Amino acid sequence: MAVRTGVEYLDSIRDDRKVFLDGDLVKDVTAHPETRAIAETMASVFDLQHRPDLRHILTITTDDGEVQGSGWMIPKSLDELIQRRQVTEILARETGTTITRSPEHGAISLLGMHELRHDFANGDQDRLDAFDEIWRRCSSEDTAFVQGWIDPQYDRRKPAAQTDLIRVVEKNGKGIVVRGVKSIATQGAYANTILVGTFPRPGLSPDQIMYFAVPANHPGMKIVCRPSHSKHDRENNPLAGRGDELDSMLVFDDSFIPWENVIAQGIPPAATVRLFHRLSQFLHWDVLIRQGVRAEYILGAASNVVDSLGTGQIPAVKDHLAELIRFLETIRAFLTAAETLAVPSSWTGTYRPNSLQITAGRTYAAQNWQHMHELLQDLCGSGLLMQPTPADYANEEISPWLNRVHEGVGFTAEERSRIFRLVWDMTATETSARSHIYERFNSAPWFVTRTQLFDRYDRQREKMLALKLAGVDPQKAQVELGQIERPWGSHLDAVNKS
Ligand SMILES: Cc1cc2nc3c(=O)[nH]c(=O)nc-3n(C[C@H](O)[C@H](O)[C@H](O)COP(=O)(O)OP(=O)(O)OC[C@H]3O[C@@H](n4cnc5c(N)ncnc54)[C@H](O)[C@@H]3O)c2cc1C
Repeated sequence: MAVRTGVEYLDSIRDDRKVFLDGDLVKDVTAHPETRAIAETMASVFDLQHRPDLRHILTITTDDGEVQGSGWMIPKSLDELIQRRQVTEILARETGTTITRSPEHGAISLLGMHELRHDFANGDQDRLDAFDEIWRRCSSEDTAFVQGWIDPQYDRRKPAAQTDLIRVVEKNGKGIVVRGVKSIATQGAYANTILVGTFPRPGLSPDQIMYFAVPANHPGMKIVCRPSHSKHDRENNPLAGRGDELDSMLVFDDSFIPWENVIAQGIPPAATVRLFHRLSQFLHWDVLIRQGVRAEYILGAASNVVDSLGTGQIPAVKDHLAELIRFLETIRAFLTAAETLAVPSSWTGTYRPNSLQITAGRTYAAQNWQHMHELLQDLCGSGLLMQPTPADYANEEISPWLNRVHEGVGFTAEERSRIFRLVWDMTATETSARSHIYERFNSAPWFVTRTQLFDRYDRQREKMLALKLAGVDPQKAQVELGQIERPWGSHLDAVNKS
């Protein structure tokens, strides 16, 4: 099978999946008024793979001659790593960053597992075969792939084994029976395949450790969505009009999972930690790339606002724009460094972006995001709120006034209103609030990720230098100068080096 078109993707999600929204069962997610728009936006992502000007980046041809989405490429060189980054950038730009769980994002999460699949199989060849078959099928069928790792917020003081965490309640020669809930799978309602994994927690019992992939219409699985923020009018809502990804809860009601879908079960808890680190390395890279594109949109939107108002010569305005430029270029610097300092894995040869740069970059972007939104809003003044709608402009009685007072420098009144409405949707709506929360929490809260810098960063060399300068015996740092000269970017733990 080759890469799919949008129409083929839409056909593939019209099945008997059990999707619940606001208490109702959604019969067809491609047709329901609250879910249709994002299904169409996802479909447009599949269509991009067929665009002649993008095909050379968005698709690859395998050794067997099959054309696949480049998201499934296992990068083996710096050039391939850069192509992989370009894939995420293109999809983010083409969708206005409204799709965070594009098919390439699903692929990159499985790439983290691919690296550790032997570890996972734990000597069980059947599990290794199951993983390889899932990888083969998903890459070959151009699958929309999402994941559910995080658990409901049970009393976090208790060891996992004493909570109602999802667990295997039966195991036999054919498979496992699973009971419980995963609290968030973004885009679960629009997926072809859903991966369920175990988030590392203290006190996990073997029956609570499981990794499996199932189709979205798997018997015994219910997908319960949060309320939709989708808007029906794209003219007025340039982002929310493209739909809402709908974060959803996965309920497993004694669902039977055949062994061929199970990648691992009951493996040692330490393996869950290793996997999560490796997975994060790729996922956080994807997040940072998308944040770079968001920063491009913010700078672009701010520049258009300033141009249309004619405020570009005011020193404070220039200063705001300079800050937005600095934000964008800092994210790009982290991405460039992550590529420049990338190393191939010594086990698999897979080229991995540098995890120190990704961790530091992702936390930098998340920490500063709110401020960038404020800077953008600062530049708008009341125009952020006071924009006529397309219907207002169509009303002959009021439109002469609207056209006169809203005309921008170099833009018609209607164009200027569109420029400002985009800023409103980017910074002040339910859609923007959700997207802000998503970037802070997805995969792991940004401040938890930041503490990893402290936990995993080797500071011996810096301690020793400062001790020497202070006139204190540098031996107190327990290392000899010269023994610890390291290349830049190699200060994180073994996860990065293996
Ligand atoms: C919009 C959105 C989409 C998401 N999509 C997905 C998805 O598709 N798949 C998926 O698996 N997950 C997804 N997530 C889940 C996300 O990874 C978790 O929200 C995140 O890891 C935090 O876990 P939690 O929500 O269970 O919070 P908890 O672990 O219950 O923590 C609650 C709060 O307690 C504090 N806290 C807890 N532990 C620590 C710690 N170690 N250090 C410091 N403070 C701490 C923090 O303030 C934290 O916010 C999504 C989340 C959001 C918000």
